[in-house]
Amino acid sequence: MSLGSPSTPLPEAVDIAIVGGGVMGLGLAYHLAKIGKTAKRGSERPSIAVLEGSYLVSGASGRNGGGLRMQWADAGNVALMMESIDLCRGLAQELGINLWFRQGGYLFIARSEAASERLYRNAELHRDVGAPTRLLSPAEALAVVPHLDPSMVQVATFNPDDGVVFPWPFVWGYAAQAIRRGVLVRTHTRVDKLELTGEGYTLRLSTGERLRAARVVNATGAWSNELHRELGISLPNRPHRHEILSSEPLRPFLDPLVVDLDSGLYFSQSTRGELVTGISLPDLAGYDDESLSMHSSLRFLSVLSARLTALMPITRSLKILRQWSGLYDVSPDGDAYVGSTPGHPNLVQLCGFTGHGFMMAPAVTGLVARWLLCGESHPMLSRWDPVRSQHPPGRRREDMIIG
Ligand SMILES: Cc1cc2nc3c(=O)[nH]c(=O)nc-3n(C[C@H](O)[C@H](O)[C@H](O)COP(=O)(O)OP(=O)(O)OC[C@H]3O[C@@H](n4cnc5c(N)ncnc54)[C@H](O)[C@@H]3O)c2cc1C
Repeated sequence: MSLGSPSTPLPEAVDIAIVGGGVMGLGLAYHLAKIGKTAKRGSERPSIAVLEGSYLVSGASGRNGGGLRMQWADAGNVALMMESIDLCRGLAQELGINLWFRQGGYLFIARSEAASERLYRNAELHRDVGAPTRLLSPAEALAVVPHLDPSMVQVATFNPDDGVVFPWPFVWGYAAQAIRRGVLVRTHTRVDKLELTGEGYTLRLSTGERLRAARVVNATGAWSNELHRELGISLPNRPHRHEILSSEPLRPFLDPLVVDLDSGLYFSQSTRGELVTGISLPDLAGYDDESLSMHSSLRFLSVLSARLTALMPITRSLKILRQWSGLYDVSPDGDAYVGSTPGHPNLVQLCGFTGHGFMMAPAVTGLVARWLLCGESHPMLSRWDPVRSQHPPGRRREDMIIG
């Protein structure tokens, strides 16, 4: 299985250059290559190159919790995630790699009145959209998650179709299948500069090479504003460091991924038995960490330990094996930026996915490929249009973002 290389030869020019080899960039490359031949416009398969500044799972796509859920507060997000999870069911076979996709469900718990209200509202919305989310009492929640302290639960929601994947093979699978279909994947090659050349762009690479592209897709996640800073383009999404850790392996006891809505604590058990867990750190959240640093903090460990041991007393003697962090790419309204950049029709944004880009990638990258090659529209593409950075529509922020 080829996963790209620093020595992949590049031509002088390509039709589409995708900058960023995370789940978004590689998922898009895969879908473009797959449908390229049958596209309505143009009879030729477009030439596509993916340029990754480091190794393939070096960004958020290799550092996340692998959670996939339909439980959102907005009908568009619920429907999109129903599609994404449906696609995941056949994806291991399609990509020819084990994604370790497990549908153990997601259990959201609420401790406060405000969080309970949100869960009641969501359960009703999910029913309307067709997602199988159920409201649970504390006793019912305890039956789904043994060892949970039920006195910490006012109400819970459970969706059995939600689940987790192992992120690395997911990204590798997209890469391998894109390469098989003719996509050039060049790793360890940063795009240092974008220059306007006629209607397209010249990409100046860290290797000293230049590549011309009729269209450029910015799939650089938390680094996305860096890419076009010198063109004078700035969108309102900002990096935010999010920490996570995994424990020693425990005997399997936990099927769902559990989220405490009040604190933003979440945890799941991996197929190897490790607890994988993170938490929102509210006073650091937002737009305060533009350093692009990925360090780990004692503060995170202490806040998380206090919350986790209160909710799951059996974790009091748990040993931590690894702690790491990655970068969310956070937009002010919680929605991604997908589509042409205002004033730059051939510079396409595919970024701003905050803490949910991994789960949305299977559906989103297919939508974007069909839009780029066939001109197909979709309500989510209108909603994610980067033009709203200039005229914010003032709609309600998605409030089920964790982290
Ligand atoms: C700790 C953590 C937990 C998370 N948990 C979940 C979860 O449970 N479920 C979920 O759905 N999402 C989760 N997320 C969010 C999810 O990981 C991201 O939304 C998603 O991976 C974004 O993918 P991406 O391809 O846009 O970005 P990335 O994976 O960050 O990829 C961007 C790539 O671009 C490269 N790059 C940057 N600049 C350049 C350049 N100039 N030239 C070339 N290459 C460049 C980078 O090296 C990087 O590899 C989590 C994130 C973190 C950090």
